[in-house]
Amino acid sequence: GTIASKRIEIRDLLQGQHTGAQVTAMGWVRNKRESKNVFFFTLNDGSCLQALQVVADPAQTPEEVLRKISVGAALAVSGQLVASQGKGQSVELQATDIRILGEADPEKYPLQPKKHSLEFLREIAHLRMRTNTFGAIFRIRHHLQFAIHQFFNERGFFNLHTPIITASDAEGAGEMFQVTTLDLKNPPRTPEGEIDYKQDFFERSTNLTVSGQLEGELGALALGKIYTFGPTFRAENSNTSRHLAEFWMIEPEMAFYELEDNMDLAEDMLKYVIRYALEHCAEDLEFLAQRAEEEEKQKPQQERSEMGLLQRLQFVLEHPFERLSYTEAIEILRNSQHNRKKKFQYLIEAWGTDLQSEHERYLVEKHFKKPVILYNYPAAIKSFYMRLNEDGKTVGAMDILFPGIGEIVGGSQREERYQELKERAKSMGIEEEAIAWYLETRQFGTVPHSGFGLGFERLMLFVTGMTNIRDVIAFPRFPGSAEF
Ligand code: ATP
Ligand code: MG
Ligand code: MG
Ligand code: MG
Repeated sequence: GTIASKRIEIRDLLQGQHTGAQVTAMGWVRNKRESKNVFFFTLNDGSCLQALQVVADPAQTPEEVLRKISVGAALAVSGQLVASQGKGQSVELQATDIRILGEADPEKYPLQPKKHSLEFLREIAHLRMRTNTFGAIFRIRHHLQFAIHQFFNERGFFNLHTPIITASDAEGAGEMFQVTTLDLKNPPRTPEGEIDYKQDFFERSTNLTVSGQLEGELGALALGKIYTFGPTFRAENSNTSRHLAEFWMIEPEMAFYELEDNMDLAEDMLKYVIRYALEHCAEDLEFLAQRAEEEEKQKPQQERSEMGLLQRLQFVLEHPFERLSYTEAIEILRNSQHNRKKKFQYLIEAWGTDLQSEHERYLVEKHFKKPVILYNYPAAIKSFYMRLNEDGKTVGAMDILFPGIGEIVGGSQREERYQELKERAKSMGIEEEAIAWYLETRQFGTVPHSGFGLGFERLMLFVTGMTNIRDVIAFPRFPGSAEF
């Protein structure tokens, strides 16, 4: 048979039912230790955090093979799996046959069995998934995305694929990557001197999607409840630890949902997937929790967080999110000691100011000390598609803010009334022609509807306790990311 047909994954070998049997494991050497009579090494195959301990008899192993067992080398090891006396492992493999699948020159292999800094590992993103930390992160990432699909499936939502190349810019925020087949250094021009997109592949100006929302709404107004889960692109020229140029967004859209239903759904979903992670990723989460605790110890006492990672996740599950209006939040912020002592970079002076992340984090981390849902923002600072409230000043927007993260969800009840939507778009300088298809949905069987966008990597930051968004996506794209 093929090599794979003989292999048993290390996750399964550690379960116990293979103990006593002849087995073959394959993986990469993590650690080795040799003495005169015995040769120990550990093998990790990515299927789980733990590595399998292998014991070899140097007298029975060809010199040539022994020499090539180095950290990073890929091996196939056959032998008997036996109960282990050693601490921290239940079984070990007594090797009778070791095959070198791929060598790793110890002089050149950058991942040695010691703790490397995240900065160093970011430089070698093509190898960092082979460390315990990144192995844990990407296994958790898999389970979380699976939980998200499962949640929506259980609730009767349909997954809808919205376009990645699109002519819609969602809000005209202007952070788009343009997609064109034209030579932009020497483009065809109209008689008026504008770039002539009629000659482009799509015959109009297109960009990579910044959100699937507008198209998602079309799905909701036909299928009832849909969600998208796809890549999203923003030419954010900010080097923050919370923004990527390419990130993944979960965007449900629901017909007949009002703002409160929207908030309930978002809160239920976040709790569901966090609970799922606690149940299905216990080993990896415990490892990351320990890691986060060590990091905390490096900080000065007053900056350390009161809770460990696992406690923080548990806490979120057990407490309802605080819900308050933008207007109430402004009052809290304006009257805060922080504002009075001018400790905010942007002081809160009047109703209508856009909240900065320092304000959001103050509310969540200092004032309420739990997740917060802020709703009913001033219309002037929010997008054209958000539903205007009775007061004529605010819209039915909601943002969910998480401790240590800031904004994790942004959503709203959508404006379903044709006239109101048309006027809002116009007042924001959006041409009717550009959103004709969107406006038309409000002329044919329009209904109240709502939706939100959850940044998958922001959720990953919260669940893993990592602090830089570049560490929770395998191949981060940011200004100047050179590799890949
Ligand atoms: P922020 O205020 O943090 O820049 P936003 O308000 O611009 O976010 P939205 O347009 O509301 O973002 O997008 C919905 C969600 O997508 C956000 O709540 C956030 O979780 C996530 N998100 C937005 N921009 C990014 C980005 N550049 N990288 C990673 N996640 C992002
Ligand atoms: Mg933004
Ligand atoms: Mg925002
Ligand atoms: Mg937002």
